[in-house]
Amino acid sequence: MKLWKAGSATFVIAALALTATGCGSDGETESPSRSAASGSKGKIVIGIKFDQPGVGLKQPDGSYAGFDVDVARYVAKKLGYMPGQIQFKKAPSAQREQMIKNGDVKFVVASYSINDKREKEVDFAGPYFLAHQDLLVRAGDKSITKPEDLNGKKLCSVTGSTSAQNVKEKLAPKADLLQRGGYSECLTGLENKAVDAVTTDDAILAGYAAQAQHKGKFKLAGLKLSDEKYGIGLKEGDVDLKKKIDAALTAMVADGSWDKAVQANFGPAGFANEPAPKITAAN
Ligand code: GLU
Repeated sequence: MKLWKAGSATFVIAALALTATGCGSDGETESPSRSAASGSKGKIVIGIKFDQPGVGLKQPDGSYAGFDVDVARYVAKKLGYMPGQIQFKKAPSAQREQMIKNGDVKFVVASYSINDKREKEVDFAGPYFLAHQDLLVRAGDKSITKPEDLNGKKLCSVTGSTSAQNVKEKLAPKADLLQRGGYSECLTGLENKAVDAVTTDDAILAGYAAQAQHKGKFKLAGLKLSDEKYGIGLKEGDVDLKKKIDAALTAMVADGSWDKAVQANFGPAGFANEPAPKITAAN
């Protein structure tokens, strides 16, 4: 009996070791194998987009790429976290404030525009990028060249985005607005003619238009319909974290990493971005 107990204890330890090796296989942690060697700080959970090529994308092999991903990695490193300690979490447009408030994520880097409504619920570091709302239409479409042309047309955007809000409030209140959970769903609609146009930030639309499977199918209208200043969303009142992130963003611009990230992620789409915005303490 004693022997059996000892044997079973050995078995339990071996099983635990195996389980531990399997940890992080949810596909969301970067280099899970390295997380065991991570420093004393443990993990950091960061909210990003999973379906926006060039901005925030979960790739078929489970890795992450995009400008926001590079910004997130840079900031995390300055906060003392190595890539293996980062866990990326999907942060859909409509869930960002709640995810921050719940403490599901430490911060959100997800094409997240700073605006008054959101600032009532969360704080923002940055801004670290300036985009503009634009329209994406099918390549052969000549009927939509300005926002007024959208009235009576089927327009797709995302629930909880400033893009959808702007359409309803000012750009095209009479458009038939379909709101989806993510822009990739809108793209499918544009391709199969369920919608006539997709609207959101130019940086996001340019990424979709440049994807291999979309090449030649869509075009951007080239309208600067709004100013979208991207900030890093964090818990309201966390002054220390905001300061640290602002410092990291300032360093990213100063040491050339910001330019490199812009070229690597927006260059292939031929997207002409605005220069780095001034990181202001009060936004
Ligand atoms: N930047 C806009 C926003 O924060 C549109 C892009 C998005 O939905 O993430 O709402």
